[in-house]
Amino acid sequence: MKKAVQLALVVPCYNEETVLPLTIKQLSKLFADLMKKNIITENSKIVFVNDGSKDKTWNLVEAAHKKNNLINGISLSRNFGHQEALLAGLYNTDAEVYITIDADLQDDISAIKSMIEQYHLGNEIVYGVRNKRDTDSFFKRSSALLFYKLMKLLGVELVDNHADFRLLSRRAVLAMSEFKEKNLFLRAIVPLVGFKSSCVYYERKKRQAGTTKYPLRKMLIFALKGISSFSAMPLHLITLSGVAISFLSFLLMCWTVYAYFIGSTIVGWTSLMTAITFFSGITILFMGIIGEYIASIFVEVKHRPTYIIDKKLG
Ligand code: UDP
Ligand code: MG
Repeated sequence: MKKAVQLALVVPCYNEETVLPLTIKQLSKLFADLMKKNIITENSKIVFVNDGSKDKTWNLVEAAHKKNNLINGISLSRNFGHQEALLAGLYNTDAEVYITIDADLQDDISAIKSMIEQYHLGNEIVYGVRNKRDTDSFFKRSSALLFYKLMKLLGVELVDNHADFRLLSRRAVLAMSEFKEKNLFLRAIVPLVGFKSSCVYYERKKRQAGTTKYPLRKMLIFALKGISSFSAMPLHLITLSGVAISFLSFLLMCWTVYAYFIGSTIVGWTSLMTAITFFSGITILFMGIIGEYIASIFVEVKHRPTYIIDKKLG
């Protein structure tokens, strides 16, 4: 039999008072079950991270902690956002294995057991992947698909249909903490951490209670953050279009001069056209060059680790 692991389940919560009693009940039951089967150790814990909720979320966590010392809590000073709350939970809890999961029970908690099995097979990162998204609205599904396609096109590696339900080993969390960027988009950072990884598939359910904390506005900001903090491709595109436009304007310029000499122009047209085409080409090209420098600054300021060691001999 495999050795039991010390698990910390990190659950970010923002105004989740309606679903939290149910979540606490189901997760405590799951933990008791996993402990009985000797899959997780007695000192495993559930960590609720209160992300500046304005409702009774924190009171519920406090009350649950009093009754059951398995339940731990971290309360942030204000609303920082889902990704930030996840990191606060991961970096302020000590455990052998971490799993992050949303508070609304949309992710199948029975997948947690499979994730731990995958960990025993040597996987330090296990992605929870939903195999169906029937419960999400058509708009949410198609916009998500479009976003994933766009990200791939821009050269960002993402695991399809994976959100923030995942297992991370202590080593993976430590490596992740080396990514010092403030613009957090964990879905794209985690694959950069490397190590052996695998996926566990599950069916995504409906939110058990309460409403989404990701309205369209937040979703768009999140998507934009993902693109702007992971891809310098838009900047490279400026350079490319600068080269193309310069080339085209050069052709146009040749033609206007030619038209001048064969005498089919009115006075002033040639000089005007030449100046416009020349300068518009050059301007975009120069903007692209500036963009290239900004792209390198963009990579530098993130202070990402240049390498992460997996194994060492000797
Ligand atoms: N959440 C958070 N801070 C926020 C927004 C959301 O901690 O500013 C938490 C929320 O409580 C939930 C998880 O992030 O546990 C995912 O949010 P939600 O389920 O509302 O997103 P959806 O599933 O609708 O995309
Ligand atoms: Mg949800």
